[in-house]
Amino acid sequence: DLCIQRAKQTKELNAFIILTDEIAENHAIESEKRIYIEKKSLPLDGIAIAIKDNFCTKNINTTCASNMLKNFVPTYNATVYSRLLSSGACLIGKSNLDEFAMGSGTVDSIFGPTRNPWCSSEDWRISGGSSGGSAVAVATGACVAGIGSDTGGSTRNPAALCGVVGLKPTYGLVSRYGLIPLVNSMDVPGILARSIDDLTMIFNSVAGPDILDSTTLKKKFKPVKIEDNIDLSEIKIGIPSEYYCEGMSEEVLDVWRYVTDLLEKEKCQVRSVSLPHTSVSIAVYSILNQCEVASNMARYDGLEYGLRAAEDYSTEELYASTRSEGFNNVVRSRIFAGNYFLLARNYEKYFLKALKLRRLIADDFNQVFKGENSVDLLLTPTTLSEAPLYKDFTSTHNRDQCALQDYCTQPANMAGIPAISIPIRLSKNNMPLSIQLMGPFLSEQLLLNIAKKIE
Ligand code: GLN
Repeated sequence: DLCIQRAKQTKELNAFIILTDEIAENHAIESEKRIYIEKKSLPLDGIAIAIKDNFCTKNINTTCASNMLKNFVPTYNATVYSRLLSSGACLIGKSNLDEFAMGSGTVDSIFGPTRNPWCSSEDWRISGGSSGGSAVAVATGACVAGIGSDTGGSTRNPAALCGVVGLKPTYGLVSRYGLIPLVNSMDVPGILARSIDDLTMIFNSVAGPDILDSTTLKKKFKPVKIEDNIDLSEIKIGIPSEYYCEGMSEEVLDVWRYVTDLLEKEKCQVRSVSLPHTSVSIAVYSILNQCEVASNMARYDGLEYGLRAAEDYSTEELYASTRSEGFNNVVRSRIFAGNYFLLARNYEKYFLKALKLRRLIADDFNQVFKGENSVDLLLTPTTLSEAPLYKDFTSTHNRDQCALQDYCTQPANMAGIPAISIPIRLSKNNMPLSIQLMGPFLSEQLLLNIAKKIE
């Protein structure tokens, strides 16, 4: 009840596309019955959660914040949602996002932008994205945890800008079944929470193999345990020099130095490392993203589901008008670019080349985690700055620079490795500043434990 009240009090932030009060109440009653009458309890009994509106929820609209799916009601549940339900959680609402999760601001939603809760309503700032709705819902106390998705940073970016923790798990550790795809080879469900303990509890209930998603790892999932005693002198932390990027704010650099010093003081072994292909990563990410988007979006043709435009004099016309009414400019331009890269004459020059570079980017990580002088984890900023003002972020110049927002986050998606954003302190504008930790494939146990030390 308190969470729903909070969600209603903070309605002007626009974190939710729909609130599911009645469903949440039913879930809460079921939990109470279980606890008090049947004397049985489940790990997430009564825990309020928000789910990004690109996860299918049976009989509840799932819009992807797009005209294309405005009236789409799935007939099945995403695995992440069904696992949360069977652990006793209550769904309090579907949260806002950039259309089809393409963006870093939660500014491109047909339901309007989501505002950052840390600033005044006059000069307001973005929440980050594309899982901005879930981040704001968690930051304001409208739920205990939020589910996001992370293709190039969409969970970690809004977590960093809203001052909550945000985890992108290892690719394949959490099922994508029922998550409407953006880039199948990089998408992972992400988790946002106010503390590492809360986040770990949610992570443990959603991770693990799923027969409904053939890309989930087959190995039995071992739940993460937060330990009290970790010998930090055994832990090696790498600082990748290539993550110093032009445009990074002084305050972000300062937080990076501060956490580096903190870990050194705690006796961790900290050293500088190199990930030489970082500078090409943004371009490679964009090409691969647009190619997969072009292919994924082909399903929205006005025939099977979603929007169907009124003009249907010919099939071609129906496709064209459905897709131009259904998608915003960002989605359309990615489809356009992706189809260009996939043309027979460009395929090798762009798509295959990008795939080869992706391999090299992943190899850079393998080298630092496994090679000689290896480290256990990497410490970098999450974002280039605190949350920008909405008016600055949406200016034409910054729109063109939008891909830069993912500078520090997308390499982890290209390599499939886990990464977490942890809030550290407030900037002089009283906005959250955060840090990112990345680890090798399936290193969540260590990653979350060290994150807990930093928290
Ligand atoms: N900003 C990135 C993009 O627009 C990341 C999106 C995401 O992780 N869903 O592609």
